[in-house]
Amino acid sequence: MSRPDLLLLGAGLASGLIAQALTEHRPEVSFLVLERGPSIGGNHTWCFHPDDLGQAEAPLIEPAVGHRWPVHSVIFPNLGHRQIDAGYLCVPSERFHAALAPRLRDRIRFGAEIVEVTPTSVRLASGEVLEAGAVIDARGAAPSPHVSLGFQKFCGLEVQLDEPLALDGPVIMDATVPQEGGFRFVYTLPFAPDRVLIEATSYANSPQLPAETFASDVLAYAKAKGWKVAKVIREEKGVLPITLAGDVQAFWEEARGVPRAGLRAGLFHQATGYSLPEAARLAALIARTRDLSAPALFATIREHAIRRWRDQGFYRAINRMLFLAAEPERRVQVFGHFYRLPAPLIARFYAGQSTAFDKVRILSGKPPVPIPHAVGALARRHPIGAPA
Ligand SMILES: Cc1cc2nc3c(=O)[nH]c(=O)nc-3n(C[C@H](O)[C@H](O)[C@H](O)COP(=O)(O)OP(=O)(O)OC[C@H]3O[C@@H](n4cnc5c(N)ncnc54)[C@H](O)[C@@H]3O)c2cc1C
Repeated sequence: MSRPDLLLLGAGLASGLIAQALTEHRPEVSFLVLERGPSIGGNHTWCFHPDDLGQAEAPLIEPAVGHRWPVHSVIFPNLGHRQIDAGYLCVPSERFHAALAPRLRDRIRFGAEIVEVTPTSVRLASGEVLEAGAVIDARGAAPSPHVSLGFQKFCGLEVQLDEPLALDGPVIMDATVPQEGGFRFVYTLPFAPDRVLIEATSYANSPQLPAETFASDVLAYAKAKGWKVAKVIREEKGVLPITLAGDVQAFWEEARGVPRAGLRAGLFHQATGYSLPEAARLAALIARTRDLSAPALFATIREHAIRRWRDQGFYRAINRMLFLAAEPERRVQVFGHFYRLPAPLIARFYAGQSTAFDKVRILSGKPPVPIPHAVGALARRHPIGAPA
């Protein structure tokens, strides 16, 4: 392929979905995916709720769905175990790779370390320069001085158990664990009666991940539950951005005309750090975009991302309440209050589609943080440290 229409940088979730959408809906568009690693999607387990995706997006991810459950649960102090009668789906990255790789064949290059990017070209570590009609930079999150972040960090162990469990479905938050240094919970995905992914998670102010401590928390949790771990099959870990405030125009100026996707475009749920639904939405949008030249694509993606940023202002306000106003050990109460609310409201929250009435309900009741702190935190709009 001498000069493809598009170069997709990184073969992660966002690039993979764009490649899938183009293959499906725009077979005339030529593209090449460049990835430094050996596979598509790295080492992740991506989960989502069925209502997170619309009709245009769901088919893009469908071939890669590895597990689906009809219900899921949360466990909170003062709430107990609450089953939510809504489905939960999971995409293991090996399956994402297996679904996509045969469709991409020679349209993907592994072991390609990208070192320099312009809107229409990239330079690889080998010195090779590749040109295209446009580049889409989807190499994952990059730090920016224009946004202030908290962090959701986690470490998960997929384990084989000696004896089968009788879990009905995923427990997406068990917050009855000690609340030290931030909101902490354990997340359990039962892939089979005797094979589960158990993840220790913390909403914390710093991005440092003491993975060994988290891993021993996971094993301690399993032990406390009476689950006998026969062996650890796999480990996954990550630190996700939780946006508190920012200047979205300045964030996009930094891109210098390079179209972006995924976390690099700031396209993720601002309260959870999850990006699968946003990545699928952008992939569907790119497949609908006629003019894929670099300036037109940049303008389309930028406008979309700025609109999604503005749509999610309420979630950033919640984050500020969580990170700036609540004592780390009391952050659990913000979520505890949320999970008392009706299931359709919870579904709209995760889909990033909370109504005005939902927002009032989420903020109503006895606040878990001192009111002056909450009011101050909710009012902030700009990066922390910048003039408000
Ligand atoms: C362990 C983990 C679990 C997660 N779970 C969920 C979940 O359940 N649901 C959800 O919606 N979100 C989840 N997320 C959040 C988010 O959806 C993922 O981080 C998602 O993978 C981000 O997609 P992306 O395409 O922006 O970046 P990535 O998927 O990280 O892809 C970036 C790709 O770019 C490549 N790359 C980077 N630099 C270069 C370079 N210089 N040259 C070449 N290639 C490069 C990387 O190797 C990688 O393959 C999770 C994140 C993590 C870390």
